[in-house]
Amino acid sequence: MSSDDAGAAEAARKLFAGPCDFIWGATSIDNLPPATLPEVAFVGRSNAGKSSLLNALTGRKTLARVSNTPGRTRQINFFNLGGKLVLADLPGYGYARASKSLADEWQNLIFAYLRGRANLSRVILLVDARRGAMDTDKQAMGLLDQAAVSYVLALTKIDQLSAAERLKAEDEITKESRTHTAAYPEIFATSALKSLGLDALKAHIAALAAT
Ligand code: GDP
Repeated sequence: MSSDDAGAAEAARKLFAGPCDFIWGATSIDNLPPATLPEVAFVGRSNAGKSSLLNALTGRKTLARVSNTPGRTRQINFFNLGGKLVLADLPGYGYARASKSLADEWQNLIFAYLRGRANLSRVILLVDARRGAMDTDKQAMGLLDQAAVSYVLALTKIDQLSAAERLKAEDEITKESRTHTAAYPEIFATSALKSLGLDALKAHIAALAAT
């Protein structure tokens, strides 16, 4: 690791160890918080592990509610991270196992947000490593491509996979990302439960923070 990398890692650690406060809940595109800081949004299927990952990244047990009632959160929650970055927790999509397409409600709110949010620096799209990219994930990627919002794919729950399964899951998601115009080439493999891959994701996000 170069001294620049070490400095960046330390800055990321500090940023995520500092304050992170809920600032806003938006149920419609007409009442978003002021767009004053760079924003990073988290999206994924319900149950993908989004709340757990947000809590693990910020070192809080209850920042984002771990879903007891999947699919119920229908608002975008905004958190101010150390006065330098806003984290946006978007509602999960496609909970029902049979669900093959994104609900209109999700599409309308999210697409409007993705297209219209000038300060949106990156989207982190979470994919459950045990399942890989499902139809709804691919549709969400398509929406992000259309909105031309740069996004990275992050596998969650990698603690549930063997080393060989993990390599396969990483390989498949990398291949998938290459077919999407707005997907960032790097992918992240994480476990909120075992704190795996969190530092790399923190560094990626912290690099987007206001200085
Ligand atoms: P959300 O609906 O995307 O916010 O997902 P949650 O964070 O509520 O997690 C959904 C389920 O996956 C819960 O039962 C979590 O305990 C479980 N889960 C989340 N992250 C991990 C992880 O890193 N490893 C394991 N093994 N389970 C996880």
